[in-house]
Amino acid sequence: MNVKNTWRDLYAGEVRPEQVGERITLSAWVARRRDHGGLIFIDLRDHTGIVQLVVNPERAPDAAAIAHDVRSEFVVRAQGEVVRRAPDAVNPNIATGEVELQVDRLEIVARSDPLPFQLDDEGVEEPLRLRYRYLDLRREHMQRNLRLSATVIAAIRRSMEQQGFIDLWTPSMTLGTPEGARDFLVPVRLQPGTFFALAQSPQLFKQLFMVGGLDRYYQIATAWRDEDLRADRQFEFRQLDLELAFPTREDVLDVLEQVVVASFEALGRIPPSRPFPRMSYADAMLRYGSDKPDVRFGLEIQDATEVTRGSEFGVFANAETVRFLAAPAVFSRAQLQRLEEFAKEWGAKGLAYVVVDESDEVRSPIAKFLSVRELLAFGVEPGSTALFVADTTPMVERVLGALRLHLGEELGLIDQSRDAVLWVLDFPLFLLDEETGRWTFVHHPFTGPLDGHEGLIETDPAAALSQAYDLVWNGWELGSGSIRIHRQEIQERVFKAMGISDDEARAKFGWFLEALRMGAPPHGGFALGIERFIALLAGESNIREVIAFPKTASGSDPLTGAPAPTTKERLDELGISLKPAKG
Ligand code: ASP
Repeated sequence: MNVKNTWRDLYAGEVRPEQVGERITLSAWVARRRDHGGLIFIDLRDHTGIVQLVVNPERAPDAAAIAHDVRSEFVVRAQGEVVRRAPDAVNPNIATGEVELQVDRLEIVARSDPLPFQLDDEGVEEPLRLRYRYLDLRREHMQRNLRLSATVIAAIRRSMEQQGFIDLWTPSMTLGTPEGARDFLVPVRLQPGTFFALAQSPQLFKQLFMVGGLDRYYQIATAWRDEDLRADRQFEFRQLDLELAFPTREDVLDVLEQVVVASFEALGRIPPSRPFPRMSYADAMLRYGSDKPDVRFGLEIQDATEVTRGSEFGVFANAETVRFLAAPAVFSRAQLQRLEEFAKEWGAKGLAYVVVDESDEVRSPIAKFLSVRELLAFGVEPGSTALFVADTTPMVERVLGALRLHLGEELGLIDQSRDAVLWVLDFPLFLLDEETGRWTFVHHPFTGPLDGHEGLIETDPAAALSQAYDLVWNGWELGSGSIRIHRQEIQERVFKAMGISDDEARAKFGWFLEALRMGAPPHGGFALGIERFIALLAGESNIREVIAFPKTASGSDPLTGAPAPTTKERLDELGISLKPAKG
């Protein structure tokens, strides 16, 4: 007998006609047991598939006695001979369907309580799946996703090593890095009243590697960000974090393109062709109303600001910006009303429309105010509807960007079979924070200005562009990076433009600014969101499907019950007293 280990010669799904006549041992889970015609049939399952065991009480009375006791999800060890199935019992739908194991010894290795849900039930609610995640993990779907994840991570590491990067570790407990989210705080028993922040990214440490002469760094780093959760966001997630010294922007993009291509190839898929398409931020906002455009479909936003300047329709004439989408559909009044509600949810004051039906008839409450010149300029084809938003530029972008995606889904315009990867480049250096009215950063405040834009930091911050870039796939931001500021003088000017005082900058980042004064080479890098990347590769629309133990959408873990209150003793040790809960 060809014994590979005590428990298993083969995985369940590997048994093939070539093994006919061999005696083998299999250990796996019982998918189901049924008694038929005096025989006992047991389907044995592991991640490779299912094989059928047959126990004949006449041939193997001891095994049969045990088989009667076996229930779903018991772990059993079976020994016997691989035999061909009778022709009418062959199952062409499974790889092991031509054979079965005629059992002569059977052992129960582990018993199972009745399960809270059946593993072949596709409709189990997510909280229950997460409460019993270890059962959920036994299912084919999660097995596939987590194994795919491991394959991709191995490919990423191989690619990075081949490209000469070295894997270095940075602390999780630190002083705090501004990545635009809140920090998770860790109270410190030895110094009550003080806190570490869990790193939102290794950003400043990886920059220090460059100052320290470790000129090609990478890490599959965990990052923690206290923000509202969404389909593509968790409190903790991993990123392929990297930094290199003396790079051009193209060098960084090239590293990432190699990683993406290697990951596709590791999965046996045709990779996107290189170089990936590039689009400027300005173009993305103008044509798609988003800095992460889904370019799997057209329906581009069109600008009508110029042509409506002298319009008799005051809403158009007076708005900072007028833009529209020409949807290939003749919408009914009720549909238009729903679209207007959608636009209002995104902040629009209203949604003007011009419907041009199949016979070129115009239906629109605003048509009487519009000149022929305007109507012609909109170029609305018969059988379509132009939907207008007139407002401030950011509002127009936001509403039409959201409406475009909504219509793309509703009208079935998105080609789901396509993979559209692209780079978005030339982000602005500053964004206006609508709440505070102050300039703030787009990604983080260490992003370098585009060459020649340094002078705009003080004179025209709105026009200053940065050396930041994002990788976008099918409308998801996969990651971002930049060429950094490596001169302290520029870093100080950027802080100043954002209203960060010298004292504040020194208190938060003094340790880092000091390093920029001690021979910091030019450097730049990137962070690629691992879970988002893997979810897209796995065809999942939610990153929880590729994370073994994720938090729910409301930020808790049904499996362990975390987060949970702590004891009074712990709080006392930490010098923390809690306010009474609001309620
Ligand atoms: N630190 C950035 C992030 O985590 C990435 C980068 O700029 O390298 O998004």
